[in-house]
Amino acid sequence: MSDKNKLINGSILAKNIIENIQSRWTHSKSQSSPPSLAIIQVGNDHASSVYIRHKMSACRRIGFLANCFNFPDNCTQSEIIAKITDLNQDMDTHGILLQLPLPSHLNRLELLRCIDPNKDVDAIGPIRLGTLISGHSDILPCTTAAILYLIKQTGISLTGKKVTMIGASPLVGKPTAIELLNRHATVTVCHSQTADLAMHVKQADILIVAIGNPHVIQPSWIKKNSVVIDVGINRSEEGKVIGDIDAASVLDTVQFITPVPGGVGPLTVAHLVKNLYTLYRIQQTN
Ligand code: NAD
Repeated sequence: MSDKNKLINGSILAKNIIENIQSRWTHSKSQSSPPSLAIIQVGNDHASSVYIRHKMSACRRIGFLANCFNFPDNCTQSEIIAKITDLNQDMDTHGILLQLPLPSHLNRLELLRCIDPNKDVDAIGPIRLGTLISGHSDILPCTTAAILYLIKQTGISLTGKKVTMIGASPLVGKPTAIELLNRHATVTVCHSQTADLAMHVKQADILIVAIGNPHVIQPSWIKKNSVVIDVGINRSEEGKVIGDIDAASVLDTVQFITPVPGGVGPLTVAHLVKNLYTLYRIQQTN
């Protein structure tokens, strides 16, 4: 296989998913109002603002509605709770997303717990995560769904494979590890305190990296013919967006790898749109 074919093009896959949702939506158009997403942003972190723009434009491109509610850095927990409560009760809001990270004075867990699970479009609130653990989830956390979708595209079955998940955050690493277990992979989860990271990387048939640091994983650790999913988003010294792994330096080794940009990122957005549509349809039938 040529090196070029080893790069999985997440942008094209994402476009296909969104077009598919658009077509399902167009063919089912008897409803009055379209699916509508509400995003809550606290502060004006630049990276968060960029991600929010991508999420909103993906929705709007296919006729879904998307609004962002901005709160200042110094807003209180109760102000955000009041907004979430309003949105929970608003029949015209079908998905609510709390953009992370939050300023440190806010309690993320309490806020996520306030979001109605039927509107928890990111699927990272406690009820949705509980459903994920039970293995009966109708939607997955968006980044987890993106990662699983990319692995599926390789045609490689997860059953019995050694998968190493580097990163154990509640947003990416933990839910992804659970879903990999649901799909019968043998999962090792590593984090900043893991001893001998190299050993865990070297044994991985499928390696998923979500650290947020391009200097941790050494190209020489990557197993021959493995699949590498790079979730990390970093800025190089020249200001370029780069992942946690330098894809060019491991292309000879891997069977498949996701590029950054153009890998997991666009598929995370596509799965957000897909989750919104799924929640909308569930709410329409209730
Ligand atoms: P986080 O900071 O919450 O978690 C990072 C994880 O990496 C932690 O579990 C930490 O223990 C681990 N870690 C840190 N240093 C390590 C080391 N030296 N060795 C091993 N593990 C180490 O971050 P997050 O929210 O999980 O995001 C991780 C990365 O993924 C970031 O770059 C983020 O921007 C990116 N991200 C991308 C998408 C996407 O759609 N592409 C979505 C979410 C997050």
